[in-house]
Amino acid sequence: MNAQVKAKALKPLWRIENAAQAVFDPVPFKVYTQRDLERIPQLENLPAEQRFEMKVVASVLPFRVNQYVIDELIDWSNIPADPIFQLTFPQRGMLAPEHFERIATLLREGADKVELEQAVSEVRMELNPHPADQMEMNMPRDEDGARLDGIQHKYRETVLFFPSQGQTCHSYCTFCFRWAQFVGDKELRIASSEAGALHEHLRRNTDVTDVLFTGGDPMVMKTRHLRDYLEPLLQPEFDHVQTIRIGSKALTFWPHRFLGAEDADDLMQLLTQLVEAGKHVALMAHYNHWKELDTEAAQAAIRRVRSTGAVIRAQGPLLAHINDDPAVWAKMWKLQVKLGIVPYYMFAERDTGARAYFEVPLARAWEIYREAMQQVSGLARTARGPSMSASPGKVEIQGVAEIAGEKVFVLRFIQGRNPDWVQRPFFAKYDEQATWLHHLKPAFGEQKWFWEDEYETLRDDKLALAD
Ligand SMILES: *Cc1c(COP(=O)(O)O)cnc(C)c1O
Ligand code: SF4
Repeated sequence: MNAQVKAKALKPLWRIENAAQAVFDPVPFKVYTQRDLERIPQLENLPAEQRFEMKVVASVLPFRVNQYVIDELIDWSNIPADPIFQLTFPQRGMLAPEHFERIATLLREGADKVELEQAVSEVRMELNPHPADQMEMNMPRDEDGARLDGIQHKYRETVLFFPSQGQTCHSYCTFCFRWAQFVGDKELRIASSEAGALHEHLRRNTDVTDVLFTGGDPMVMKTRHLRDYLEPLLQPEFDHVQTIRIGSKALTFWPHRFLGAEDADDLMQLLTQLVEAGKHVALMAHYNHWKELDTEAAQAAIRRVRSTGAVIRAQGPLLAHINDDPAVWAKMWKLQVKLGIVPYYMFAERDTGARAYFEVPLARAWEIYREAMQQVSGLARTARGPSMSASPGKVEIQGVAEIAGEKVFVLRFIQGRNPDWVQRPFFAKYDEQATWLHHLKPAFGEQKWFWEDEYETLRDDKLALAD
């Protein structure tokens, strides 16, 4: 082997020049929020009334969209139906009529700031800002009983960490279940400012095999901040932490984070370093539609992340107006597999924010899941779901069956507050309208779910601590 060839072979894979070299050029990140709605050229052709409606909704729910999403992901000849437009731009139906009218009236009358803010905050409080008891039930405490901000530890083997610099996203999803974190209300926020608490918690909990960095989107952080959190995990005292997951929608909203951003190479270096030190690194990519995978930059970013040895797993909710169609899921899963991504979860939309606009009945969700599964090969049948992340655990609709003359949903826990609940089938009365676990009733005349008493006890204990 001559010296030149050898040097090339030693180059990290992610440095190999790509045919689509242009996508590696730095691209400025330009973002629009509620105040800038009037400055988005593509909106100028919309009727004034529709722009006003957007402004009303964006006063309550977070709005943020960047130039890449506007220019490359949205088909402006197909609005308002375009799925990515629905995913990022506020729509009137996202607020209940009475909430919409209340805010619209104040805006029309030019109400003063204090009055408007008061109304907005009251409306927000009615939108269940913290579904599934997140605040009270999942926050671990230190030895003195003090809450460890920025850490959620709900399932034995996985710790969620919310780094404080990662509590925003490159754009916001209109259905976001963490929306409360983005509207500036400090009380609604779950974030940690320091790595020390995380590392201490992991040191003391050797049952933990997975740490999941989440937000917001940790990929909005500079690589050097990510490094501060991640590099210490390579020390031997964290050998029990096998898997580092990073939840992110940056492959959709800002693929240039992995390409031409000033610290993109540094990020590739960091991921490579973690992989080479023996960690399983998983980018838990949030996807809702195949269109998100269908740009040159998105595919180049995926190739680049994969070339570090990190795996990409895909998850996302099923949503009316965006992806409530088996053909969309089948096409998305197929494209993911083609690009080397592992489909992981299909979620049911959580009970918060604009839920009424996006929710899909569980019965329909299961049909969509099944019909999509039937269209794909085994490698794309790795997505579990539809799954509800409810307070007792992640509950999957396994199917609809008729047992002893009764039509039922067959359910199972994919994750449970008590690991013993996991994988036990249980049954709910079939209900065509139900959209969430709390709408379901046990089948066969049972009074309670098999896990209910134990859950109540766990809940009482946690809530007592929270007082
Ligand atoms: C989904 C989830 C996890 C991870 O569960 P896996 O089934 O291992 O992917 C961890 N913590 C919380 C709170 C979750 O919702
Ligand atoms: S990427 Fe995730 S956290 Fe960010 S707005 Fe979308 S759903 Fe919310």
